[in-house]
Amino acid sequence: MTPADARARMIALHRAPEPEVLAALLPAATLDTATRQRVMAQARLILQDLKAAQSTGWVNRFLQEYRLNTAEGVALLSLAEAYLRVPDPETANLLIRDKIGDADWRAHKAKSGSALVNTATFGLILTRALVEDPQQAGTLKKLITRMGEPVIRQGVAVAMKMMGEVFVMGRTIDEALDVAAKPEIKGFTASFDMLGESARTFADAEKYFAAYEQALDTVGRSPKGNGHSISIKLSALHPRYEVANKETCVPQLIEMIRHLAAKAAGYNMDLTIDAEETERLMISLDIIEGVLRDPALSGWDGLGMAAQAYGKRARPLIGWAQAIGQATSHRLKVRLVKGAYWDSEIKRAQVEGLSDYPLFTRKPATDVSYLACATDMLDASHIWPAFASHNALTVATIMEWAGERRDFEFQRLHGMGEGLHERLVRELGYSCRTYAPVGGHKELLAYLVRRLLENGANSSFVHQLADPTVNEETLLSDPAAHIAAVKGRPHPAIPLPAGLFPGRTNSQGLDLSDQATLDATLSALATVGANSHAPTALVSGQAVSGTPKMVLRPADPSHPIGTVIEASAEDVSRALKAADAAADRWAATPVEDRAACLERLADLMETHRLELMGLCVHEAGKTIGDAVAEIREAVDFCRYYAVNAREQFRPVTLPGPTGELNELRLTGRGTFACISPWNFPLAIFIGQVTAALVAGNPVVAKPAPQTPLIAFRAVQLAHEAGIPADVLHFLPGGPDVGAALTASSAVHGVAFTGSTGTARAIARSLLSDDSRPLVPLIAETGGLNAMIVDSTALPEQVVGDVVTSAFRSAGQRCSALRLLIVQEDVADTIIHMLKGAMDTLVLGDPADIRTDVGPVIDAAARDKLLAYRQSMQTQWIHTLEVPQTGLFVPPTLIRLNAIEDLSQEWFGPILHVVTWRAGELDSVVARVNARGYGLTMGLHSRVAETAERVKSLAKVGNLYVNRSMIGAVVGSQPFGGEGLSGTGPKAGGPHYLLRFASERTVSVDTTSAGGNATLLSLAETDI
Ligand SMILES: Cc1cc2nc3c(=O)[nH]c(=O)nc-3n(C[C@H](O)[C@H](O)[C@H](O)COP(=O)(O)OP(=O)(O)OC[C@H]3O[C@@H](n4cnc5c(N)ncnc54)[C@H](O)[C@@H]3O)c2cc1C
Repeated sequence: MTPADARARMIALHRAPEPEVLAALLPAATLDTATRQRVMAQARLILQDLKAAQSTGWVNRFLQEYRLNTAEGVALLSLAEAYLRVPDPETANLLIRDKIGDADWRAHKAKSGSALVNTATFGLILTRALVEDPQQAGTLKKLITRMGEPVIRQGVAVAMKMMGEVFVMGRTIDEALDVAAKPEIKGFTASFDMLGESARTFADAEKYFAAYEQALDTVGRSPKGNGHSISIKLSALHPRYEVANKETCVPQLIEMIRHLAAKAAGYNMDLTIDAEETERLMISLDIIEGVLRDPALSGWDGLGMAAQAYGKRARPLIGWAQAIGQATSHRLKVRLVKGAYWDSEIKRAQVEGLSDYPLFTRKPATDVSYLACATDMLDASHIWPAFASHNALTVATIMEWAGERRDFEFQRLHGMGEGLHERLVRELGYSCRTYAPVGGHKELLAYLVRRLLENGANSSFVHQLADPTVNEETLLSDPAAHIAAVKGRPHPAIPLPAGLFPGRTNSQGLDLSDQATLDATLSALATVGANSHAPTALVSGQAVSGTPKMVLRPADPSHPIGTVIEASAEDVSRALKAADAAADRWAATPVEDRAACLERLADLMETHRLELMGLCVHEAGKTIGDAVAEIREAVDFCRYYAVNAREQFRPVTLPGPTGELNELRLTGRGTFACISPWNFPLAIFIGQVTAALVAGNPVVAKPAPQTPLIAFRAVQLAHEAGIPADVLHFLPGGPDVGAALTASSAVHGVAFTGSTGTARAIARSLLSDDSRPLVPLIAETGGLNAMIVDSTALPEQVVGDVVTSAFRSAGQRCSALRLLIVQEDVADTIIHMLKGAMDTLVLGDPADIRTDVGPVIDAAARDKLLAYRQSMQTQWIHTLEVPQTGLFVPPTLIRLNAIEDLSQEWFGPILHVVTWRAGELDSVVARVNARGYGLTMGLHSRVAETAERVKSLAKVGNLYVNRSMIGAVVGSQPFGGEGLSGTGPKAGGPHYLLRFASERTVSVDTTSAGGNATLLSLAETDI
């Protein structure tokens, strides 16, 4: 097999059905009875070693005692994750109270036999007594109370540091080298991992690069360094190590790794590249290949890579490693692991609506894959195998297969699986290596959380080993037999992303990390011809005549994307007349038929997805990622409203006295005007239109004047889906068309998204004619959206979410973050990191996959934003350069003195920052509320009580905790605000359709025909 063949095989398996992938792996992982018996005997011996080591290690006992299926285990995990980074005592106290308060520590004290576990538990009981129940804790409590809160904080800090240190070999590489040289570690080599991953800024990446260099030099030069190696993470070395940024990051990373590899080769050391998220796997291979092909490294066989068995591509990946080794005359060190990101990978596939998972959904399937890969590795001439696992059965199976061979090694993580390898090293002559993280507590957190999760997950071997209720038979059960018994079917509790929502198919995402998909998408987007459908207003499906108007391209206004013929006043009145004539017929159309039209429209939009995406990109200036999300949202609206309509528009019989029938029905109100904005030119347009239609109303739809082309195409598809032409009319144009619509008494309802000022003008217009019935106005307007950050928040996560919320889509989302309110104790750190993260943003043509921030919509918007930005120049914290061509506004960070200094919404990439003091939370929320808007709010805090407090105080439609503030998902995060931000109900929520309908009840006296037959027959049967 060539490297190219192996890659082709990987691509084919990436999202292949699980049974198919497993069927090919099973034969290699299936043991005959005699072999299985020998493996079991060996596994039992290892189990004994593991159990013996466990009973001596207090840390193991502590972790077993506080497993993640107990409230106390979760409390410790969350305390450990956050505590050490909190600089101010007030918030530290809050965090302690929040995490320690709820848990039942006494129960653990009674159960545990270990003195140290009990000592630690005793500390936690005392802490709880002090934070929660200061009246009852006796003399000792009084003593500690006298010593004060600092003592408690110190105690908790020590406990948390101890927990961290379990998994870390040293704070510095020198310290770690000393530990690795201790007599009890004799026989084991180490692979030092300088902690830190996912650099957010170029400065972080440089810091990690320097740390790797220093580690290589220290270990290489030290007399204690013999046999040890270094492990590195590519994500630590580049803040934009992403497929979209492949052209830039791959060559840069090759250069960096070549430099590190040359150093390692000089010291005759190994350098292994860890495996991270599956979406980056293929570009990591480009990097590895680039390094292996460096002639300066010929003759050095120390480069290593990790392969994750939980991935469906694992086996051909081993094939690739063998093939590339052969092609470049190297022997690769391949570390086979099962994989550490399983839960986040599953979530990502669901969130992105991908066609299938890239990894297995059953734990035994991962084991089967691991074994199949292991056989290939043992057979491969250009691979030096390293088997990294804490699972006794996995290790015993490999020992059985390897027989007398010792030309490979076993690996485990420092702090886990003690006892697993000791006998193997000392009595049986195997090579064993410990993966040894090195770093201070700040770098440790992400790693620590992964380890604690692994120790706590029910499916994990180390967890089961510690659980007295799991017997040996279960612990060592045969994974191949299990997978054969279930025929490789996926786990029933993990539906495919398409099947996430009851009653409807989730919209399809596009896996842009897949090169073939990306290439196809880019070439399709390049050929989108806007005018192939002759866009014009459509009255009863008929094009109107008039003078075509240019539609500009925000990325390059000198090259218009097409033309449109807008609606005239006469077109508006013809459309309204035709709609009115169709109203009764459409309202009488069964809801099932109306809903089916929406579902057909959803399917058609998916069929024409690339064309619609092209229009989003070229006409609205959306980035490619935003364009995918836009089409998905439009599709989801259609399917969601179809499901809702079927449920809500069914007649309902109401309870009442005997002898009458009371029935409630929903029906259309008459023609709706749907007036939508340019920032979601398809999703909001389609959302409004389909909600009105499925509720039984004809629609006259007016898109924003900047984005008529995509709306025109959507209307064409709606007609093709079966919406009658006289029921849906398309009236592109400016404010005059909007004004003509809302002033007409033929309009019985208005759905509007746009500015608060225009919403007011519409409301006034709806009331201007005294003879006109009062009609509903469903308005979604702007917001002064704030994010509050306290000192328990993880700065890296905050910064990622701030950049996404404030600058993605060039800040042109109603939900976008406008005001960051950060606790003063951490403000400098967060602002510093934020500036670095802003510097990594790519501004440019949205049709370029690398672009993060595109242009703003038109010259008027740009000029207004630039003028404001200029007026604030003295308060700039940071700003960026913009491209010469296109309507760009530089992303800018502006310092304000007070929340009140932000007086209006600036609809672009401009973010304001203020600080707050610990203890002022209530007043911060009150002051944000007092601005009068109520659309979105963000909160970053690890204190649950703070989240509860903000939840109870914030007057906003959408509150986002510990995540970004944009990208509301239909049916999961219904979207819309209150106060100056809109009238509600929420788009994509269960109450939306109701506002588009009239309610009618019919009450029939069923006794008027002569008597109450129902009652009489009931009485008879009851006797
Ligand atoms: C030396 C060493 C280096 C490592 N380097 C890396 C690395 O670079 N990258 C990386 O990702 N990991 C790495 N790991 C972590 C490794 O993936 C974990 O230790 C592994 O999760 C535990 O495997 P196990 O055989 O010890 O435990 P087991 O308990 O036998 O296996 C647990 C595995 O099953 C998976 N699993 C759990 N539930 C399911 C399910 N429903 N469906 C499918 N699979 C499931 C888990 O994700 C995990 O991978 C490394 C581990 C070691 C020991």
